[in-house]
Amino acid sequence: MPDISKDLVLFNELVEVLLKDEKEHPVADRIESDELYDTIDLSLNESGMVDDDFKAVLKDVIESTPKTATNLFFNQLFGGRQSKAVLGDLLAVMLNNSMYTYKVAGPQVGIEQEIIRKSCDMIGYGARSNGTFPTGGSMSNYMALIMGRDAKDVNFRTAGMSKPMTVYTSKESHYSNAKNASFAGIGRNNIRYIKADSYGRMLPGLLEDQIKKDIEEGYVPTYVNATAGTTVLGAFDPIDEIADITEKYGLWLHVDGAYCGSVIFSEKYKHLVKGVERSDSFSYNAHKMLGTPLTCSIILVKDKRHLHESFSNDADYLYQTDGDDFNLGKTSFQCGRRNDALKFWTLWKSIGTSGLEQIVDQQFELANVALAYIRSNPDYTLYSFDDSISICFNYKNIDPTTLCTALYEHQVTVVGFGAFEEDTFVRLVTINANNEQVDILNFFKVMEEFVENNPSLVGMGETFQEQL
Ligand SMILES: *Cc1c(COP(=O)(O)O)cnc(C)c1O
Repeated sequence: MPDISKDLVLFNELVEVLLKDEKEHPVADRIESDELYDTIDLSLNESGMVDDDFKAVLKDVIESTPKTATNLFFNQLFGGRQSKAVLGDLLAVMLNNSMYTYKVAGPQVGIEQEIIRKSCDMIGYGARSNGTFPTGGSMSNYMALIMGRDAKDVNFRTAGMSKPMTVYTSKESHYSNAKNASFAGIGRNNIRYIKADSYGRMLPGLLEDQIKKDIEEGYVPTYVNATAGTTVLGAFDPIDEIADITEKYGLWLHVDGAYCGSVIFSEKYKHLVKGVERSDSFSYNAHKMLGTPLTCSIILVKDKRHLHESFSNDADYLYQTDGDDFNLGKTSFQCGRRNDALKFWTLWKSIGTSGLEQIVDQQFELANVALAYIRSNPDYTLYSFDDSISICFNYKNIDPTTLCTALYEHQVTVVGFGAFEEDTFVRLVTINANNEQVDILNFFKVMEEFVENNPSLVGMGETFQEQL
C-alpha cells in the first residue's frame, strides 16, 4: 500500500511552492488555451511516472493554474483563503465521510446540523426550521423551486404538472433560475422576469401586476426567487415588500443569498436582508463572502416538512439505524454527499460569530475604499452603489471588455466585466477579506499603469464610444 505520510510530505512541499509562487507571481503564468496540451504534460499513459517526474508535472500545473487567493484576483464572487476553513476541508478529505447517515458520518452530522440550527436562529426562522448543504447556490435555488412547486400542488410529484405554473424573479437574478424552471418541469417560458429599479432591485409593484395578470390568464403563480446580492450589481431585493405579495397570493418565497446572504452575520449590514424571516427558504454560500473553500452552500427552510416531502425517499439498504434527524440523506438531493460542513464549522468555531462578522464587514470597508477612490477621480465613471461589494466602473472610456481581457492576457490582474441595462463596465469584487486598503489601491495603480503603457487602449475606447 502506498505510504500516505510520504504523499503528505509531498503535499506540504507543493503547498510551499504554491505560497511562494503566489507572492512572486500573484497572477499565474497564463497558457493560451490552444497551447495547453503542448505546454504541460497532461497525458494519461499506460505506465505510471517516477516520483521526480510526477512532482515536476504537479509543480507545472500549480504554477500555471489561476491563483484565486491572491491580492490581484478580483474576477469572481470568491477569493482569498480563510486558513481555518482550509484546515477543516483538508480534514474532511482525510476523513472522507458521506453525509447521508449517522452510521457513516457520526459527529459530522451534528456539525452540519449545528451550522444549520444556528443560521436558522440568526434569521429568525423558529423551531420547525431546518436545512441542508446542496452542491452550490444554483442547486439551492433548484431545491427551493422544487419545494415551492410541491407545496403549491401536492400531486405534482406523482402526476406532473396539471395546470401551467408561473415563477417570478428579477431581471438581475442568477441565471440558474432559467435552467431550474426547465429542470423542474415548469418550463423556461413560464418564468416572469420582473424589471428592476435603477439600483438593480426588483420592483414589487410590477411583481404584483404580473401575478394578477397571470391569475387572470389561468396560470398558477407559484414561486418567487428574490436576490440578496445580485450577481452583477450586488443589489438587494426588498424582501418585506415582496413578502407582502407572496403572503397575499400564496406563493413560495425563496431568498437567494448565494452572493451576499452572509450579511446575516453583520450587525451593520444585516438590515439589507430585512424581512428574511418571512421567506419560506433562504440560501447563502459560505464559499463566497465567508471565504471557505469551494463549495459550501447552505439552504435553510422555515418548515422542514417541505424538505422531507420533496426530497425523501425510503431506502432500506441505506437508512438502517438512527432517526430521520440524524440521517441527513432523507433531506438532500444527492445520495453520497461530500462533507462541506466541516470547513465552515472549523472556521466558525475558531473565530466565532464575531470573527465571521469581521470578515463580512471588511469586504464592505474595502468596497468603500474603492468607491471613494473612484468618486474622487474624474477619469472614472461609477455604475454601482453604496452597500455593495461589487464596484462597477469604467476608466477613461476604455471598452471594459477589451481592458479586462488585456489585463488578464498580460497577467496584470484578473478582473471581470458585467452589464446592467445599457451599460457595460469593469466589475471589481472586494470579496477577499484577506485584502487590505493598500491592495485595493494597488489594483487601481497597476491598472492605470497598464493603461499608461498601452495608450492604444484609450484610442480603442473612443472607437468603442463611437460605436455606441
Ligand atoms: C453565485 C451565485 C449563485 C450560484 O451559486 P453557485 O454556488 O455558483 O452555484 C446563485 N445566485 C447568486 C445570486 C449568485 O451570486
